[in-house]
Amino acid sequence: MKQTYIEDIASHDGEAVEIRGWLYNARSSGKLRFLLVRDGTGLIQAVAFKKDLPEEMFNLIDQLTQECSIIVRGSIHADQRAPGGYEMSLQYIEKVGGAVDYPITPKEHGVNFLIDHRHLWLRSSKQHAALRIRHEVVSAIRDFFNQRGFINLDAPIFTPAACEGTTTLFEVDYFNDKAYLTQSGQLYMEAGAMAFGKVYCFGPTFRAEKSKTRRHLTEFWMVEPEVAYMDLDGLMELSEDFISYIIERALENRKEELKTLERDTSKLENIKPPFPRITYDEAHKLLIEKNFNFRYGDDLGAPEESAISESFDKPVMIHRWPAEAKAFYMKRDEDRPELALGMDMIAPEDVGEIIGGSQREDDYDIILQRIKEHGLPLEAFDWYLDLRRYGSVPHSGFGLGLERTIGWICGTPHIRETIPFPRMMYRIRP
Ligand code: ATP
Ligand code: MG
Repeated sequence: MKQTYIEDIASHDGEAVEIRGWLYNARSSGKLRFLLVRDGTGLIQAVAFKKDLPEEMFNLIDQLTQECSIIVRGSIHADQRAPGGYEMSLQYIEKVGGAVDYPITPKEHGVNFLIDHRHLWLRSSKQHAALRIRHEVVSAIRDFFNQRGFINLDAPIFTPAACEGTTTLFEVDYFNDKAYLTQSGQLYMEAGAMAFGKVYCFGPTFRAEKSKTRRHLTEFWMVEPEVAYMDLDGLMELSEDFISYIIERALENRKEELKTLERDTSKLENIKPPFPRITYDEAHKLLIEKNFNFRYGDDLGAPEESAISESFDKPVMIHRWPAEAKAFYMKRDEDRPELALGMDMIAPEDVGEIIGGSQREDDYDIILQRIKEHGLPLEAFDWYLDLRRYGSVPHSGFGLGLERTIGWICGTPHIRETIPFPRMMYRIRP
């Protein structure tokens, strides 16, 4: 018999089908057995009547344990009470593989125990839902840029020089030379934008984050678009369209998963352009009004980000930052050269920063001076300077953290559950 996936079950109402999966849960009541079967695409309840099955098959059911693999056959009919809306009347069952003492039981486990068993925890309904949402978000990200004519141009993972903050670099031995795992593909995307106009890279990024926060992984995924002839206003427009599109796709295509996660989606339904935009100066003023002892010129920490986002029901974009708080490559504001044309997007619901971006400095002499001021090795940036030597144009780009975005959509407070196998300072297994 041909295999049917549970997610397609609605089109088989009234038919007999075969499902290949695993036993999620079982209970019995007299001569009835209720099996909850999962196949990776969904869950379905199979009901066995003693009189409908050969005796050895009925007896087999009582020996099945949680997560043993099984093949079941039976006819499908709609049933409002059943999880998923359909039920199978079991006519055949076969055991494929056993599962003795599956460690994750319906009782509560501590989170460390669960992450130690991440390879099995992936099968649990909430983890499963979060990672299916991850899959949707990844597709939405690619669709958004592909529909707008961006070229996907991935950046290298081995990089020769410390380009951004040197404190979070992972150093690796590269044939007796030093190399670093990438912290951002931005500089390469700037080269890409000059070649293709609109590009994006999307891949893993590495930062030796020594702080133990719920927002920081040491290996996370970042998507980084870069666009030639785009200024800061254009970048903010692109950012709000992008975020709105991702949210809309998750709401449209992952309703079941969001329900499994018990996510209150009303807050997400509101995420539509335009998003509020405030300057750093306004953000500073807001913090002072909220009695924060916040020094003008500092970067925002998690408490400051929370306090600002509380004042808005959509993501808020904070732009025009004191240059001292930002990276060397940001262009300065013409009217107020002490400000960098940077933009951070802070998501609501205490998620924190999800996007960091800027208009880039495009003048050769100025960027050369900034590289020197920041004490960066000139020889490592020679190729980057070429981009200002040959046909330099205004250009802008941003980086979005995939896991923080998924954490926000799922409403999971710690982003370790938004990636299949999280990497953190104290966690590299499994
Ligand atoms: P933070 O201040 O929160 O550490 P950042 O200023 O270092 O963030 P950027 O360098 O601007 O962040 O990186 C762009 C985006 O990448 C961030 O907005 C965030 O969504 C994501 N990001 C940065 N660091 C991490 C991390 N360690 N784990 C997961 N996502 C991250
Ligand atoms: Mg950081």
